[in-house]
Amino acid sequence: MNTQATTLLVIGGGPGGYVAAIRAAQLGIATTLVEGAQLGGTCLNVGCIPSKALIHAAGEFDKLGHYAGKSALGIQVQSPSIDLAQTVRWKDGVVARLTGGVSSLLKKNGVQVVTGWANIIDGRTVEVRAQTTAEPLRIVCEHLLLASGSQALELPALPFGGAVISSTEALSPPSLPKRLLVVGAGYIGLELGITYRKLGAEVAVVEAQERVLPAYDEELTRPVAASLKLLGIYAHLGCTVQGLTAKGDAVRIRSAEGEDLELAADRVLVAVGRRARTEGWGLETLALEMNGHAVRIDDQCRTSMHHVWAIGDLTGEPMLAHRAMAQGEMVAEIVAGKRRRFAPAAVPAVCFTDPEIVVVGLGPQEALQAGLDCIHAMFPFAANGRSLTLESSGGFVRVVARRDNHLIVGWQAVGRGVSELSTAFSQSLEMGACLEDVAGTIHAHPTLGEAVMESAMRALGRSLHV
Ligand code: FAD
Ligand code: NAD
Repeated sequence: MNTQATTLLVIGGGPGGYVAAIRAAQLGIATTLVEGAQLGGTCLNVGCIPSKALIHAAGEFDKLGHYAGKSALGIQVQSPSIDLAQTVRWKDGVVARLTGGVSSLLKKNGVQVVTGWANIIDGRTVEVRAQTTAEPLRIVCEHLLLASGSQALELPALPFGGAVISSTEALSPPSLPKRLLVVGAGYIGLELGITYRKLGAEVAVVEAQERVLPAYDEELTRPVAASLKLLGIYAHLGCTVQGLTAKGDAVRIRSAEGEDLELAADRVLVAVGRRARTEGWGLETLALEMNGHAVRIDDQCRTSMHHVWAIGDLTGEPMLAHRAMAQGEMVAEIVAGKRRRFAPAAVPAVCFTDPEIVVVGLGPQEALQAGLDCIHAMFPFAANGRSLTLESSGGFVRVVARRDNHLIVGWQAVGRGVSELSTAFSQSLEMGACLEDVAGTIHAHPTLGEAVMESAMRALGRSLHV
């Protein structure tokens, strides 16, 4: 058997794995990365990037539809149409450009990339079935970094196949379904449900909990629920899915009151969460300590086995690309001998619905539960000039800070375009900003960012514009 040796062996070329490999190679560590599918992982190929590309395309198309009627702006457009196949090709082009970039960066930095599925033999040995060679390749390493990501959860009552699809298929639709039923009103269900609605499909959502985006606080999700109504997306809340009807053209659901209902659908998107990818590649041979279904790690991303590290979705929530990347960069630096610890002030979360939601740090309730005595204040976009010029007046920015020293512990926002505010929120938390720091910073006018400054001013009891 062909055998190679390396210092750091990374399994998985997603945002966690490829960032770790690039950083390690930059630091002079001999690094090999094994990827069974495409470089870029879920994020670049079937996650963050393609979903945001389709969200953008659907938003632009929807805007034109909005102007085709009587537009307050005076813009007139004759009945717009969309060539979905071209939209998907454009999205694939964006993905190809980024995955090609990852490949070039790995090469430029001297990472050896092996294409094939890795199978763990022991904590220092991995076998790879490369696509090109019949004989497996054996790689021995000093450090093994596990970054195999996650996969969509399947519902026993609605297994994937035929009309029942996961986000992966939903991101490359061969055609637009007339009626899409979305199971799960979380990140994926709502981001893609809204996208399909804007592209012209009839969309309904089934959610087991009593409200949409149940992981976020209700005040933040209320504008999203209102937007779903405006878009004509009906949310069946507190309902469980029973399965497809015998003809396969409808889904049977049961309400909390035990009432049965059939919802007609020619495609069903199941988006009820993701699960760490722990099976089918020999991980169990390491008998690592687990945290539920995910691999347990400490604050340096060390697993329970010496010199075996794990990052990203494999290690559980929050399953976000920027967390995976930050962990990957840190592990590379530790392997290179630097002293690092994963202790961010917060991991930001953005939901790219319409309107968008941003959460960084603690909300008022979470602060209370953490035993902190906090004040909080919100500034509505209805009082923000930039927001009105963008035809948007819904939503708000909210700040949470300690009562005693005004240290900011959390930011939340909901509104059109607020995803870009996440940078300011994260930086203020990471730099230990107080309300006075943000209130005393000149924010350019007219921008959505002024709502950030105004919420801090309001928390200090000296609001100017509300
Ligand atoms: P992954 O990206 O899943 O990469 C793991 C890689 O490992 C894969 O390429 C896989 O093929 C490979 N692999 C697995 N096992 C083996 C093996 N045995 N041998 C070789 N290779 C192997 N997050 C955000 O932060 N923002 C977003 O907007 C966002 N949008 C999303 C939208 C969708 C539709 C989905 C599904 C996810 C989204 N996410 C988003 C989540 C984000 O994609 C993940 O958190 C991120 O990709 C995790 O990175 P990772 O490196 O841990 O794993
Ligand atoms: P999710 O956890 O965000 O939402 C799943 C939803 O399905 C929840 O509201 C849950 O109550 C509901 N649900 C669970 N079982 C159900 C059932 N049997 N019937 C009806 N509803 C049910 O999961 P997701 O939307 O699949 O996304 C998976 C992960 O991918 C996210 O947790 C996130 O980490 C990542 N992601 C992030 C982004 C982003 O950052 N913008 C976008 C997409 C995905």
